[in-house]
Amino acid sequence: MTLALPSLDIRADFDSGNIQVIDASDRQHVRLAIRPDTKSQHFQWFHFKVSGLIPGEVHRFVLENAGASTFSRAWQGYQAVASYDQQDWFRVPSHFDGKALHFELSSTQPDAWFAYFEPYSRTRHERLVSDALNKAGMQLLAVGRSVEGRDIPLLRLGNGQPGRRKLWFIAQQHPGEHMAEWFMEGIVERLQHSDPALAPLLAEVDLYLVPNVNPDGAFHGHLRTNAAGRDLNRAWQDADAETAPEVLFIMQQMEKYGVDLFIDVHGDEEIPHVFTAACEGNPGYTPRIAQLEQQFRDWLCEQTQDFQQVHGYGRSQPGQANLNLACNSVGETFDCLSFTLEMPFKDHDDAPNPRTGWNGARSAQLGKDVLATCIRILPQLR
Ligand code: ZN
Repeated sequence: MTLALPSLDIRADFDSGNIQVIDASDRQHVRLAIRPDTKSQHFQWFHFKVSGLIPGEVHRFVLENAGASTFSRAWQGYQAVASYDQQDWFRVPSHFDGKALHFELSSTQPDAWFAYFEPYSRTRHERLVSDALNKAGMQLLAVGRSVEGRDIPLLRLGNGQPGRRKLWFIAQQHPGEHMAEWFMEGIVERLQHSDPALAPLLAEVDLYLVPNVNPDGAFHGHLRTNAAGRDLNRAWQDADAETAPEVLFIMQQMEKYGVDLFIDVHGDEEIPHVFTAACEGNPGYTPRIAQLEQQFRDWLCEQTQDFQQVHGYGRSQPGQANLNLACNSVGETFDCLSFTLEMPFKDHDDAPNPRTGWNGARSAQLGKDVLATCIRILPQLR
């Protein structure tokens, strides 16, 4: 007599869920596909729950359309993440065959979650905002609205008096880059603990945080775009209320309060290192900004081994910057130090952790270290 095994139940109908089931009848070959972003062809982010796993047995999954994703080369050297409790996320053996991504789990529990990266949930986002207001001394300065009406809180530490330096951090314009909001959690965490080294300088600064610029995209499990199908980090020259209200809101707030230092926090799918991109291609780029960029990078390298200056994007030619990017647009508009900060989906190969790869906790620690470097460079900003 043959006993039928209980079938696998695969779900993604939750916050940041994304998967399509093609055929889940064979536990050795569970066929899946990633669903494209709404009104967009982009896809790469995945996140789903599997129930009915048999402890002690190896289960094998295939993302059949991985090779057609936005960053198809990024699957080389990539390991998927899994968790039994949505707290502890670990890498699982993965392999890209040029068309599909294969990964497997030798299960110890009947239920498991899989994702492209340790997800930052909307529930955790609500707690982050609450901690910022109730424990870190921040105020809710303004609330933007996404295309679908979700809140976009702008938090501020400091009283907004004239003469104070204005530091801005924004995160997760690209909604699949969940490491960006983990980074913001690190900043809020650091502000909760009085730090003799930071306190005197923090007293001179207004710190502006937008922890999640693209809540619709994050909720829907998008990689790249908002609910209108727009890549928000290509919308900084023509943001409008219908298709990019998220960017319009931040631009209006920056115009109102000013910017002396801007950091736009992202994740990079391909490059296994933390790195920055800056404003060298801006028409208004000056030796003053170049010197500030180099100083900042040198000091961040002193601060942490989870940063480096060797690997990253190619430099823009003089005057050829794409001003649709937040970093370039803000740097040009406010003549200020301005960076895109990129963290890996894979690992930071200068200081790797094979069990977790780059993850939420390391992103949060980097947020603390970057904040310290920002504070250090404050006196030189103008
Ligand atoms: Zn990005």
